[in-house]
Amino acid sequence: MTGNWDLIGNAPAVRILDSAVSAGRLSHAYLITGPKQLGRATLAKLLAMAANCETPGEAPCGSCTQCERIKRGIHADVRLIDRHTPIRGVGGGDASTEDKDANRLRLSIEHIRDLQHDGRVSPFEGRRHVFIIEDAETLKFDDGITSPAANALLKTLEEPSETSMLILVAPDRSAVPDTVASRCQWIQLRPVPVDQIRDGLISKHSATPEDAERFARLSNGKPGRAIELLEDPAAVGHYDQMVLRILDASTSSLEGRFRYARELSGQYRKDQSAVEAELEAWSSVWRDAMLAKHGVKDGAIHTNWSAQLSELAAQCELDQIVEVIEGSRSAIRALRANAAPQLALEVMMLTLPSISQPVGAQ
Ligand SMILES: [Zn+2]
Repeated sequence: MTGNWDLIGNAPAVRILDSAVSAGRLSHAYLITGPKQLGRATLAKLLAMAANCETPGEAPCGSCTQCERIKRGIHADVRLIDRHTPIRGVGGGDASTEDKDANRLRLSIEHIRDLQHDGRVSPFEGRRHVFIIEDAETLKFDDGITSPAANALLKTLEEPSETSMLILVAPDRSAVPDTVASRCQWIQLRPVPVDQIRDGLISKHSATPEDAERFARLSNGKPGRAIELLEDPAAVGHYDQMVLRILDASTSSLEGRFRYARELSGQYRKDQSAVEAELEAWSSVWRDAMLAKHGVKDGAIHTNWSAQLSELAAQCELDQIVEVIEGSRSAIRALRANAAPQLALEVMMLTLPSISQPVGAQ
């Protein structure tokens, strides 16, 4: 590879982009898909750097003025837009108030008009305007109807300009209107294997081998999550509290489990992704219980909870453990399909086997 693509994992996607950059054939529109914290925004920034880099043959070099300014988020021609971005109204639309921004559910047609307006003038300091559009899944309504913003965006996609590039970011391709997705080059990011995250934490983030191993395993294939755990001690504390809550609910009475479901569903209204992360942790905690049941030590994630997980596993049958893992995955699917959160979580609680012995404190 010729460019300095500072991304952990997803080498096949990076290779495609690197050869397009070397051949001078960058597309005018990309759609980057994958779950959050896989590196979608990082890759979008690297693409913006590649489009503006000043070091011939090494783009994105990561160290020229253009690359530096884009990395720091202060480049005048590279804009990140999500549904909360204030609308400036320069494109002829209404400027919005701060209050509306926080509550806005989807990208607005005014966002697209603003970027169309910006795209019509020459880049200010670089070669190319780059508009990174997050929340691209909100270009489609829940019933599948294309939003007015998507229709406005189509116009830009149909009349590509030499001096602008659009990068859309979404969880998956089917979440974006097909008319939009089909006009973008699709770059699909996948969960990253533990060893690649571990090596990336050591080489790019100066982690100790022990921390790198632990956080790579806890990250569920998401380098962004692993970096957060490495760099933010509070994130580790929160994770440990989450495991404690899960062990606690796992070993409590039905009443206690329903109370937990109620609390978690209350949190869902405020922070959906935190609740999804907790449900993912349910499945990885119980997956470790399954390994403990089989007496397998390799591959366990929650190594500092192994005594408690062995005690938990000793009180369950294997098929009961499988049922809990399935239950937490169904709950995630149900929430994504807009099921009532409390009901979905109570159904999950009903998949838990009854446990008579509490598991020891850490
Ligand atoms: Zn550069």
